[in-house]
Amino acid sequence: MDPLNDTAFESAGEVSVVPSFAEMKLNENLLRGIVDYGFEKPSAIQQRAILPILSGRDVIAQSQSGTGKTATFSIAALQSVVVTNKEPQVLILCPTRELALQIQKVIATLGQHMAVQCHASIGGSSLSDDVRRLEAGAQVIVGTPGRVADMIRKKHLKIRHIKMLVLDEADEMLNEGFKEQIYEIYRYLPRETQVVVFSATLPQSVLEITTKFMTTPVRILVKRDELTLEGIKQFFVSVEKEAWKFETLCDLYDTLTVTQSVVFCNTRTKVDELTRKMKEASFSVVSMHGGMEQKERNEIMEQFRRGEARVLITTDIWARGIDVSIVSLVVNYDIPTNREIYLHRIGRSGRYGRKGVAISFVKTEDIRILRDIEQFYSTQIDEMPMNVADLI
Ligand code: ADP
Repeated sequence: MDPLNDTAFESAGEVSVVPSFAEMKLNENLLRGIVDYGFEKPSAIQQRAILPILSGRDVIAQSQSGTGKTATFSIAALQSVVVTNKEPQVLILCPTRELALQIQKVIATLGQHMAVQCHASIGGSSLSDDVRRLEAGAQVIVGTPGRVADMIRKKHLKIRHIKMLVLDEADEMLNEGFKEQIYEIYRYLPRETQVVVFSATLPQSVLEITTKFMTTPVRILVKRDELTLEGIKQFFVSVEKEAWKFETLCDLYDTLTVTQSVVFCNTRTKVDELTRKMKEASFSVVSMHGGMEQKERNEIMEQFRRGEARVLITTDIWARGIDVSIVSLVVNYDIPTNREIYLHRIGRSGRYGRKGVAISFVKTEDIRILRDIEQFYSTQIDEMPMNVADLI
């Protein structure tokens, strides 16, 4: 799908479409930051969601992976802050540390001509550094729920001037694992705080939860059958049983020359095991999962972003939000455990309208799950053709 020209939006009520950043009447220094970033035109979601957020309304925004959601709330956040006030005014929560760091960089870069500080408050980083940075003041805080809740409780993160709460990957944030922490943070915030939620996937159950803490939100939603990215070709390979997956992956990398790719496994143990076997077979791969030290995670992330590592083997820690535009192939070594995750995983390729390929390895008992995903998103997942190399 073309992120600039998207007719699949289904907005509840009237949402106007603003075709240029200039027409959004943004702060001049912010506009300079947007131009320097290389954005010429707002994407479909940016055209529809930035102004409603700036109007102060609560907003629920959903659009496909890689269509510019991060920049949507980043631009709105930067436009909303009062730069002369050094206290936190916008709080952005997301599910992984890597995503928080990525968002922080986007905001710092877009806001490079503004006197705005954006701090990432994340688990696994030094507590004393975090406290020091918070005490020094930052208008925008982006973080993971555990650390942010802790910093608020201990009064290092001052909440009295917070006017906007953004939940990125909102469906994940409102899942059982995070929900209580999100509610706790929400209860600390000033009563009139505006709430903005974003995700590529927002199941009905999550939309229902949002009514608990959002007031007559503006809803900007894409239709379900438009969710899978047109630019991503989806295939499956029948492996019959687990033992055949490894050879299938080796064969795949023997035939393909892919710039960068991500291989998803369902568990950390599987990631470790597969990484070891791939290295033994002389493939150059790196791996990352939640069981590793944050320092190591950061190093792998940087290595992969710089293009020094071409194959990353990982868990669903990488499924959401991470933007490495050169990734053109996603392999589901294991079929994901739910439909939403499937969409997020394959969305690591085909960023901002680029071409991508997703290949899922399916055991006999997985075929049913794959068919369910296919049907749910009204999409097509064909058997991998011989000429798959030509498609990447
Ligand atoms: P999402 O959050 O929807 O998955 P991102 O915000 O990460 O998507 O954006 C995906 C990619 O598109 C990023 O590399 C980003 O820099 C780029 N991008 C976003 N908005 C624009 C725009 N208006 N013009 C050009 N590139 C853009």
